[in-house]
Amino acid sequence: MKKVLSFLFISVSFGSLLQAQNIQNNPGSNHGNKFEQLGSIMPTPNEYRTASGAPGPKYWQQRCDYDIKATLDEKNLKLTGSEMVSYFNNSPNTLTYLWLQLDENQHSSVNNANYQSSNSMNSQMSQTQLDRIDEMSSDNGYGFNITKLTDATGKPLTYTINKTMMRVELPAPLKAGQRFVFNLDWNYKIANRSTKGGRGGYELFAEDGNSLFTMAQWYPRLCVYSDFQGWQNHQFTGRGEFALTFGNFKVQMTVPADHIIGSTGECQNYAANLTPAQLGRWQKAQTSKEPVEIVTLAEAKEAEKNKSTKTKTWIYKADNVRDFAWTSSRKYIWDAMPVTIEGKKIMAMSFYAKEAYGLYRPFSTKAVAHTIKSYSKFTIPYPYPVAQSVEASNGMEYPMICFNFGRTEKDGTYSEGTKYGMLGVIIHEVGHNFFPMIINSDERQWSWMDEGLNSFVEYLTEELWDSKFPVRGKGPAYTIVDYMKLPKDQLEPIMSNSENIIGFGPNAYTKPATGLNILRETIMGRKQFDYAFKEYARRWAFKHPEPADFFRTMEDASGEDLDWFWRGWFYGTDACDISLDSVRYSRPNMDTTFPAPAERTVKRTLEKPTNIAFDDLSKIRNREDNNITFATDADTSLRDFYWRYDRGIEKYDTTTYELRLPGNSPDNLTAEEKEKYRNRHAYELTLSNKGGLVMPIIVEWTFKDGTKEVIRIPAQVWRMNEGKVVKTFVLNKEVESIKLDPFRETADINESNNNWKTMPAPSKFTVFKQRVNAPRAGQPQTMNPMQKAQEKKGF
Ligand SMILES: [Zn+2]
Repeated sequence: MKKVLSFLFISVSFGSLLQAQNIQNNPGSNHGNKFEQLGSIMPTPNEYRTASGAPGPKYWQQRCDYDIKATLDEKNLKLTGSEMVSYFNNSPNTLTYLWLQLDENQHSSVNNANYQSSNSMNSQMSQTQLDRIDEMSSDNGYGFNITKLTDATGKPLTYTINKTMMRVELPAPLKAGQRFVFNLDWNYKIANRSTKGGRGGYELFAEDGNSLFTMAQWYPRLCVYSDFQGWQNHQFTGRGEFALTFGNFKVQMTVPADHIIGSTGECQNYAANLTPAQLGRWQKAQTSKEPVEIVTLAEAKEAEKNKSTKTKTWIYKADNVRDFAWTSSRKYIWDAMPVTIEGKKIMAMSFYAKEAYGLYRPFSTKAVAHTIKSYSKFTIPYPYPVAQSVEASNGMEYPMICFNFGRTEKDGTYSEGTKYGMLGVIIHEVGHNFFPMIINSDERQWSWMDEGLNSFVEYLTEELWDSKFPVRGKGPAYTIVDYMKLPKDQLEPIMSNSENIIGFGPNAYTKPATGLNILRETIMGRKQFDYAFKEYARRWAFKHPEPADFFRTMEDASGEDLDWFWRGWFYGTDACDISLDSVRYSRPNMDTTFPAPAERTVKRTLEKPTNIAFDDLSKIRNREDNNITFATDADTSLRDFYWRYDRGIEKYDTTTYELRLPGNSPDNLTAEEKEKYRNRHAYELTLSNKGGLVMPIIVEWTFKDGTKEVIRIPAQVWRMNEGKVVKTFVLNKEVESIKLDPFRETADINESNNNWKTMPAPSKFTVFKQRVNAPRAGQPQTMNPMQKAQEKKGF
């Protein structure tokens, strides 16, 4: 909407009471620190991470390559692996040990972190719940068994397991720029994901006795060693996700011969594992406009009937990824279609059992293609050769592959809720390729950096799928109101460690996502926001960003000081509740005239100079110091009247001078000017900040003629007084009613104080013509006393 033609002026009310601030620069002041810079709350910039939010000239990160051979024993539900790890020390530091993550120990009753939240006894407890508690009392046999750990020459290495983390001692210090290669053999009992929870494991379909295996966090992985933290070896509890190092992978999976594999990376030997017909369909899919079934529904149904006792080995390669996951089952249907991003072909693919066919066949691969196209627009072009969605009745993300949900009813039909839930989860999990798989933040510490940013771009992507996409949360500001309304003891800042968050969904996903949407639509505008957000993605793609890198880049690239927003929305728990407390209405009175302007004559005397009353210690010592020459001694032209006055050489002149000042009363307005102001309406609004969070003030005027206009006032209006704003608007039309935040874009938790329905009767104000300060032509010039004094003294 266009801006109302008006001239605005603000009057700030001093001395009003203000609600208590957590931290205040001056507790007696009307403004605390809401608009102060974040300062030391953010880490000090350095050569690795600059104050602009970009990686610095000495930015470094570690690299870790893996060559893994894994065997899936379906009958005994066991995964056995042998891996060769090449660790590159790109840091400037010498390392004496390495830390590896043993995430499967999450399921172990002996080696888990056991930090899980307390739980209370209920009057009803599920069997699963009881079994879980029971099982944890003795060794349940889950978790990694490390059967061999040697250096490249086969010499055993010393290691220590601390719950879900393993420290490997290096036989010799690993200096900057050096590489260390080691070999590791391991195995573990695969957990039932449906009953034991967790992100990886198997799901058994009782009807046909087959399983979907989702192999995630399945191999011992290097921890991140960084410039900002050293080793990130905080225990895995099942909640806070992962911090991982980039590297290249070669993985060979030996699985039952009738299984189909979906995996991170590109398969190197389809010819050895697909039937000639399937291989032909794979070739056809490379140029198809629609998804092609490489393994058909009929083939998948047929495969379910028997279990092969033979095995096949699938070989995959993936470069520059932070992790590697795969899935294996004889139940899979597999379809694929190419999508072009900035001239580069990417294969969008889906894997699903017949139970999801009715939803995944028409939608999944197309949703994958839409997602990487949309995210590429808002961030960086999708850099990997494949993007895959797997139906596995959950939602979890890995590079190039993710596990999602969405199964039909037995008859193949589905509800609207299931359809949009499925599209939402596919877009979300595929979107995680960007946050955190490419823009590789530390999920163990900051859930919002991947979930929040990803949920935000998920929302933008859903809005581009269908103009009526039923988006709940993750975008529009009003959807976070119920959370923002909660009592303070149920809230924690977004800037909280992942493990410490109570309201995980709203805190890590929706509050950051709605906050970014408020920045984009209300505070910065789409153009500035999109440019800066893209710049953050570009700067930190294939690197390890921290929150300050994001906050700083958004300001650095947009020219918008957003410290107040980070402080309020990310570091605080206050809500927005702006109240329209009162309205005054006034009209210009064009029928009265001011008296003619008058000049005044005032008498002034020269201001008496200050005598130095007291010689302080420093003065005395300086005078006594023969090595000091004062400037006024070295150059006597510096000795003026005051120098002489201080020494009693000259006397103060008490002459009184006459001074003529222009009159404060102005000329009258011309008839033309009067006409201009005659139909103006002035409204003075008094607004108070009841929620504590500062936000822009958005005012919608509904005029007597039925039209509406919206005026947007930036949040900085609260700068001088964080509790109260008085603001006057001069409008061309008479106002019928006033509404704050008509589009519900500030997450105002109390909209009952946002309306003003009955306007007061107008008072009148007179309009005078303000005199410009420069003396007018023909007016006698006056001389100020100082000029006179200097003239007299011959300056
Ligand atoms: Zn997520």
